[in-house]
Amino acid sequence: MRSFIDVSPDSHFPIQNLPYGVFKRPEAEKPCCGVRIGDLVLDLRVIEHRGFFRGVFGDEHVLCKWSLNKFMSKGPAAWAMVRRIVTDLLRDDNPTLRDDTALRDEALAPISQVTMCLPAEIGDYTDFYSSREHATNVGIMLRGKDNALQPNWLWLPVGYHGRASSIVVSGTDVRRPCGQIRPDEKAPPIYGPCRTLDFELEMAFFVGTGNEPGRPIPIDRAEAHIFGMVLLNDWSARDVQKWEYVPLGPFLAKNFATTISPWIVPMQALAPFRCAPPPQDPPPLPYLAASADSPARSTFDIRLEVTLQGERMPEPHAICRSNFRYLYWTMAQQLAHHTSGGCNMRPGDLLASGTISGPTPDSYGSMLELAWRGERPLAFPNGESRTFLQDGDRLSIAGWCQGEGYRVGFGECSGRVLPAG
Ligand code: MN
Repeated sequence: MRSFIDVSPDSHFPIQNLPYGVFKRPEAEKPCCGVRIGDLVLDLRVIEHRGFFRGVFGDEHVLCKWSLNKFMSKGPAAWAMVRRIVTDLLRDDNPTLRDDTALRDEALAPISQVTMCLPAEIGDYTDFYSSREHATNVGIMLRGKDNALQPNWLWLPVGYHGRASSIVVSGTDVRRPCGQIRPDEKAPPIYGPCRTLDFELEMAFFVGTGNEPGRPIPIDRAEAHIFGMVLLNDWSARDVQKWEYVPLGPFLAKNFATTISPWIVPMQALAPFRCAPPPQDPPPLPYLAASADSPARSTFDIRLEVTLQGERMPEPHAICRSNFRYLYWTMAQQLAHHTSGGCNMRPGDLLASGTISGPTPDSYGSMLELAWRGERPLAFPNGESRTFLQDGDRLSIAGWCQGEGYRVGFGECSGRVLPAG
């Protein structure tokens, strides 16, 4: 399938992708929903006003909004219909938009001329811990090789409730946090700037339709509740975390900032990239076991790359290459588990994967692991080295699925570290 809009083969945004986001034009009063194609944004407010979605939503305004929450709440049948309509409008053999110069001028904006916003009002944010390699690496550092994985880890997707208020969109600078740290283990703690600031390579999914309190989402229906996916950087203050996390887990070490990529890639665009997740042993309990023919039994082949560029580095350098498919627990299992006790989800809730580390040292998804707690500094071509992030560092995550001659990508999730205030 082709679009009349030129898209290069290595673009993340061909017609096979069509991710949703919220953007603001300089002249517009408010942001609005859009779809990315190549280097353009299709303004869904214009498309909705012209009546193209009337067959889906009647006269109701769903996409003429400054967040995607309402659209998310409409469910997979509506998502599929809108995707079909947008795909048809952008096809090279459909003259409707292609040959209507006035409509094109109104509805298509160059990405360079718009500002991206958070795509949804995120009510609740949860961060899982679903990479066996990451949990094992951290466990070895904290408890030694023999007790690396906690006994619950292979039975349930471990997670914690995060902070939604400090989630920011890619491109937002992140200030180094201050906090209570204990650099000298024989002395009392002090309050000051974090000395071991880290990133965590993660992905996350947005909940579309939610569930009523006390009505868990069954695993075989879990994927129907997932609207789409983004890249996520769970910025982490390791020294704050080390001192505060006992016994209730991360608190201020994680709540100062979390960055997400602006474009939500719909699950339909990811479908061609389904693959088998790692084998699970012990077998999951029945409420976490998808039936054999269910899509919930699969995961996705999404290539991930992290780059770092210091202030004095002329270009970004890759420090990690990983893949979403390495994760032990699937998104369906995370969602089924999260609601299994009766917790209700709402449209726009964000559930993150946890750090995505792979089997090899160059696939570890955090500085903590890449530089092994500071013992193996990363060397850069200009002579600098890093054990954790320094002020001025720009950390960027990219992710994409590789098709034959095209990519379905997520763009970029990046942020620069500002000095502590
Ligand atoms: Mn995390």
